[in-house]
Amino acid sequence: MSEVQRRQFLARSAALAAAATASLNADTASGGSTSFMNNVPDPLLSGQELPTFKFALEKSEGKVIGGSYGKEATVEQLPISKGIAGVSMRLEPGAMRELHWHATAAEWAFVLAGRARTTVIAPDNTSETNDFEPGDVWYFPRGHGHMLECLGDEPCHFILIFDNGYFSEFGTFSITDWMGHVPRSLLAKNFGLPESAFRGFPKSEVYFARGEVPPAEPAKPLAGWRLPPQTHKYRMLAQPPHRVFDGGREWRVDSSQFEISTTLMGVILDLDPGALRELHWHPTSDEWQYVIDGDISVTMFGSHGRFRSETLEKGDVAYIPQGYGHSIENVGTSPCRVLVGFNTGVYESIDLSQWIAGNPANVLATNFGKPEALFEKFPHDDVFIASQNGPQPRP
Ligand code: MN
Ligand code: MN
Repeated sequence: MSEVQRRQFLARSAALAAAATASLNADTASGGSTSFMNNVPDPLLSGQELPTFKFALEKSEGKVIGGSYGKEATVEQLPISKGIAGVSMRLEPGAMRELHWHATAAEWAFVLAGRARTTVIAPDNTSETNDFEPGDVWYFPRGHGHMLECLGDEPCHFILIFDNGYFSEFGTFSITDWMGHVPRSLLAKNFGLPESAFRGFPKSEVYFARGEVPPAEPAKPLAGWRLPPQTHKYRMLAQPPHRVFDGGREWRVDSSQFEISTTLMGVILDLDPGALRELHWHPTSDEWQYVIDGDISVTMFGSHGRFRSETLEKGDVAYIPQGYGHSIENVGTSPCRVLVGFNTGVYESIDLSQWIAGNPANVLATNFGKPEALFEKFPHDDVFIASQNGPQPRP
């Protein structure tokens, strides 16, 4: 670029930035944009010490009906987790998480064991039924009505995340709860049926309904098949890993592969014993972790000298607020697997090695008060995962 071109470019960029600021201010005035909301100090994160960021989800009791349960981690159980709530749910054969919607959250799920079937409807008058196996993911946009049922004669177990830490799975809008509180005369008029048709309907929320094991092939909806333009299902672990390293691998699915999932996305991270997902942060999202297997140490840095680490075992969850530095290390003797959820549809992270590699040695020398030659020895690229022996050459 010539000097003239460069100045023209800078002038144009400045004009664009001014326009963006003007529209942002307009949005903020109308309460529309939340871009700078995180500048408001969060009392929980403003103290001298960082609060705990771990919760033993699978050790909690949750809600149990027969052989089915739901255990949740909201701001109630894990106060730091304001951006993302999570649920561990098990359904016994013949059990169904009844028709419901979430007024204040979208739902993203990862299937751990067994098989499940979902039916979800959308405002465009479409509906989709899908069958899921371990490693599969679903996403339901906020407010879209859905049900989940166990398939076959083995129980199923899945992890749900919601893009709102204040959302409680036990405060969903369930079809039996609603219809049980509407006068029968109103239901009769609504559906064009006699009031007697509604005799014996549940009077309060059923939550887990129990019936026959569903047929092997899904039955067609009353309205017939009217499929949505975007599917709600993605076969995450059926794909090759997104990145493979000496020391671990990562599967990642965001809205670039799974278009409908615009507000939540997930990662499966495998680390060999001693391996480290390096120090990093996420500029645009909070992070929610669930340990599927193994023992990990998670560290978190929160400015002002505040640093904390937690040790997690199978079934524990952790939460890292947007922009906070963190790392995950396998401190056990066997491989570990961690489900990591984010409240964004587009993944972004900055790794410490990448940050350092993006700066000249003389800058680093001045910053740390050490010779430039030392920094020449640092990795010249992003490390991402280091094995127990340190970063390995990139494949
Ligand atoms: Mn749900
Ligand atoms: Mn992270």
